[in-house]
Amino acid sequence: MRKFSVYIFTLVCCLATAMPVGAQLNLKKLGNAVAKTAQAVTLTDAQMAAYVKESVDWMDKNNPVLPEDNPYTVRLRKLTEGITDADGIPLNFKVYHVIDINAFACPDGSVRVFSSLMDIMDDDELMGIIGHEIGHVLKHHSKKAFRTALLTDALKDGVSSTGGVAAALSDSQLGDLGASLVNSKFSQSQEKEADDCGYDFLVKNGRNPWGMVMAFEKLSQLEQKSGAKMSYIQKMFSSHPETKDRIKRMSQRATKDGYQRPEVKAAE
Ligand SMILES: [Zn+2]
Repeated sequence: MRKFSVYIFTLVCCLATAMPVGAQLNLKKLGNAVAKTAQAVTLTDAQMAAYVKESVDWMDKNNPVLPEDNPYTVRLRKLTEGITDADGIPLNFKVYHVIDINAFACPDGSVRVFSSLMDIMDDDELMGIIGHEIGHVLKHHSKKAFRTALLTDALKDGVSSTGGVAAALSDSQLGDLGASLVNSKFSQSQEKEADDCGYDFLVKNGRNPWGMVMAFEKLSQLEQKSGAKMSYIQKMFSSHPETKDRIKRMSQRATKDGYQRPEVKAAE
């Protein structure tokens, strides 16, 4: 298998080059960006939605989205068949052909799964990860994180100067916002909420919630075995003592609800 221990924030990608096969995720990051305190800027829901859409479009344009007939996309379509929305938020799924192991879901319901994550997860596990990420959207964690990124970086000078009209963003600002969509770090309580909400989402859509537990176990084992500083693991398990608790809690819930743990299938 290709080496996948790439930590996204160390990457400096060139926006102008054509994306080769198996490329690294393209996030242009401002080197000297300094976090600033979020200002009390009025941002309407419509403006927020426009910024989210612009950022997702930027990510899709600057990363290698696999075509519909590609086996990865075919697999993802099959896996998510019949899942069209999350509590009314319309969902859309795409695969990025990149070497980073990651997946993220955006406030507008765009879900992006990286091919290298698909390489190591079987179907139940992959669906578990997707459920967890959608859990963050359903609990509005993703929206809060995006809003913070928007106000502390891209719009740090405020939107008032533009008379309340959503300010146009530069390419590097959109790259920064893309990075915030991919790498949003959530608190442990938010992770727990996403676990529960993701569990409910999986059950509601007829999927086996054990998939989430198994995915967590796999990521945890991978990290222990290889010591890999994988961006997704760092995002998912920001605090180690909590990881075991989360796995245990979700296992107990699935057992109590009478779900049978699927047999471990070989990864793709
Ligand atoms: Zn999470």
